[in-house]
Amino acid sequence: MNDPILLTPGPLTTSTATKEAMLSDWGSWDTAFNQLTASVCSDLVDIAHGSDSHVCVPLQGSGTFAVEAAIGTLVPRSGKVLVPHNGAYCERVVRILGYLGREAVVLPFGDDQPADPALIGQALADDPAISHVVQVHCETGTGILNPLSRIAGIVASHGRHLIVDAMSSYAAIPIDLRSMPIDALIAASGKCLEGVPGMGFVITRRKVLESASGRAHSLAMDLHDQWIYMQKTGQWRFTPPTHVVAALRVAIDQFKAEGGQVARLTRYAENCATLVSGMRRLGFKTFLDDEVQAPIIVTFHSPADPAYSFADFYQRVRQKGFILYPGKLTQVDTFRVGCIGAIGADTLRLAVTAVESSLREMGVTRFAPD
Ligand SMILES: *Cc1c(COP(=O)(O)O)cnc(C)c1O
Repeated sequence: MNDPILLTPGPLTTSTATKEAMLSDWGSWDTAFNQLTASVCSDLVDIAHGSDSHVCVPLQGSGTFAVEAAIGTLVPRSGKVLVPHNGAYCERVVRILGYLGREAVVLPFGDDQPADPALIGQALADDPAISHVVQVHCETGTGILNPLSRIAGIVASHGRHLIVDAMSSYAAIPIDLRSMPIDALIAASGKCLEGVPGMGFVITRRKVLESASGRAHSLAMDLHDQWIYMQKTGQWRFTPPTHVVAALRVAIDQFKAEGGQVARLTRYAENCATLVSGMRRLGFKTFLDDEVQAPIIVTFHSPADPAYSFADFYQRVRQKGFILYPGKLTQVDTFRVGCIGAIGADTLRLAVTAVESSLREMGVTRFAPD
């Protein structure tokens, strides 16, 4: 196949087996499909070690749909939400809160600074009206990893609720619901599970979901209603993304066969190390320090050389078979390269070669940002 390699954080490059899983048609009422949904949901809870306390509610749509549904269903309309903010996906949470009319308090950090658990604790102590914290785990805008375990501990010690956007970390970075007090964990089919995009899911504490009846602002986004209906019938409310679920089933089987979260993290860490060392050898600089970099997506400073333009660079790398990602920062000129998907370190090595030859073709001689 001549598909380009997607070095983006979803959609990403999937395995042949995952693509082949989409060659069948499934009836949404049929027992076979209901069993598929149930088995996927059960595995999704297990991956976060939540089967004693949490349930999984799947939702049609991209990851943002699930974030919006979780906030709309789980945060009371009178709730007040603290958002530790260090990037574009944190900003998206703030926008969702605005649309839903939930009061937001932003706790700003630099784009290259992880959220500080002590400052989160201070903000909660200062404002007893804050009922919830919405924390982005890996902020995909830069690739920074926020210290989830310590944040979960602080939020719980203040008696508040924690909702986590774990979209780009779930299944790769350790998350353990037995030791981390988290009310809801949000992720999607098309990220580190290496499925195809089209299904989000929320792994939520059963008790919290049970008390969330009638709260959602929207029928389609009502996770409580989706869960009740699914428990009663085994079916999704409204047309399910059948092929996405079938592909996810096969993607999870491969995830387990590979060795689960630990093996996935090991592979992504190798991908990331190969990418970063290769790019540094060329003279590139990463935006983040290594200590806070998650092995999911890496932000690089653009070369300062006047012969560089991202559009031209992108097209040339694309012709060599790799799809890069533009930067998401407003203050500095950057681009991003993903480390996730059904790819290994060899692929990242080839990508670095494609980056180098593309820039040489353009006449770029200095790859450093200054
Ligand atoms: C991918 C992602 C989302 C969801 O984005 P969609 O474009 O709706 O799939 C949300 N949060 C983070 C951190 C993500 O990486």
